[in-house]
Amino acid sequence: MKYEELYATLRRRGVLWPTAEIYGGAQGLYDYGPAGARVKRQVEEAWSAWFLGLSDDFYRIDPGEILPEAVVRASGHLEHFTDPEVVCGKCQSHFRAETVLEKFRPEGVDGLSPTEIGDLLHRFPVKCPQCGSTELSVPRPFNMMFGFQFGATGGERAYLRPETAQSSYLAFPRMWDVGRHALPLGIAVVGKAYRNEIAPRQVLFRLRAFTQAELQVFFDPESFPLPFASVASESLPVLRVPRRAAGEETPVWQTAQSLVEEGLPQFYVFFLVHLFRFFRDVLRYPRESIRLFEKSDAERVFYNRIQFDFEVKLESLGGYKELGAVHYRGDYDLSRHGQGSGKDLSVALEGGRRVLPHVLEVTFGVDRNVWSLADLGLSVEGDRTVWHLPPYLAPASVGVFPLMKKEHSAEARRWLEAIGRAGVPAEMDAGGSIGKRYARMDELGVPFCVTIDRETLAAASLADRTVTLRDRDSKAQERVTLATLLARLGATRVAPQPVRLDAVG
Ligand SMILES: [Zn+2]
Repeated sequence: MKYEELYATLRRRGVLWPTAEIYGGAQGLYDYGPAGARVKRQVEEAWSAWFLGLSDDFYRIDPGEILPEAVVRASGHLEHFTDPEVVCGKCQSHFRAETVLEKFRPEGVDGLSPTEIGDLLHRFPVKCPQCGSTELSVPRPFNMMFGFQFGATGGERAYLRPETAQSSYLAFPRMWDVGRHALPLGIAVVGKAYRNEIAPRQVLFRLRAFTQAELQVFFDPESFPLPFASVASESLPVLRVPRRAAGEETPVWQTAQSLVEEGLPQFYVFFLVHLFRFFRDVLRYPRESIRLFEKSDAERVFYNRIQFDFEVKLESLGGYKELGAVHYRGDYDLSRHGQGSGKDLSVALEGGRRVLPHVLEVTFGVDRNVWSLADLGLSVEGDRTVWHLPPYLAPASVGVFPLMKKEHSAEARRWLEAIGRAGVPAEMDAGGSIGKRYARMDELGVPFCVTIDRETLAAASLADRTVTLRDRDSKAQERVTLATLLARLGATRVAPQPVRLDAVG
């Protein structure tokens, strides 16, 4: 769906809108309405179920969002978490260097020095998007963290966390004791991160406050046992650095096994497969819309040894957009926090060998994926707009309609309660024609609707009564009892499961 149309639909249905909308909005900040909040929560839960489902030694924690300065100094964020910014010499507007160069250099400016970016600005030459002047400054690094004085005396500095990952590194020694004293150990966080973006835009794609779902897997670099054989034949759409260098933009389908033969570690490819399957099988993105984009040495953040971004092609944003990634970070995080805190963060394995665990990170942008589910799932079909959400991600599983408000509302309430008791989210709608109510539920992605009518009340007991069940995607209708309805709803709410790390290969 086109950007404007998609954004208008999401606002109209109360999925999301700008924060402080009555004041004209606040750049890079959005609020989720009832439907958006539920879809977002379902995506978070589906992510947790999938990635925590890999192992009993993977845990989700809920750490604080404010970090003392010592943490971001040790992690390198104080020094390196910057985005090159250019300032117009005439109108004083600020822009991201990447944005003003986008037309001339679509691959971005990652890895370029300020001088190299400055040379590009002059060569084309780039004009100020605000006033058209060519007097753009040589880029300077702009730190994207929100920092503030901490405590009443203001003597300390603290920061809103720029990524959830840091909290998992800080939690590692505690979680080592909470857990089974065994590697691999996984620590997941789903929560807000904050970045003072120079130029937020594209609604949920460049936010100043956003939700990340990140899993850090701490492992022994000498041994990471996993059932690789069970994923070896999976095909992945990859675009590796040599093909990129040759100007290719389309991925090629390669088996997990062939990626290992090309030199990638098995443990890394195993997690590539699992993030890919999450996109394809749980979020149900069309497989041909996905691309695993390998970052080169120059583009990667220096501590990442291997990085593939997971990109999905979105009509609303005109191309591939990054929605997640798998990073092999080596021992960077624990060694930096070991130095910063003065604590030895190595652990003793069974047998007595001490090891400083390495980290594999799976990162996932929750807001971006809510947008992508809408982009890929919303379609205009004749006179109706349908959001083809997987049932377990929909804001509700079923809409319950009393045909006539006065005559059928009490009975509809009874069905709503019975469905609720079965743990299935349902929503009642008693307003307007049945056609209008279907249209509203279709646009919200609710997979089923039931209508309570005169025929429902013909049977004496609730167990014998029937309603009209209507399917969102096929529009097919049938009469069903409560038991049939609950079985149908229950079956569609089960998301696929991952291969467990301890499964026999
Ligand atoms: Zn200007």
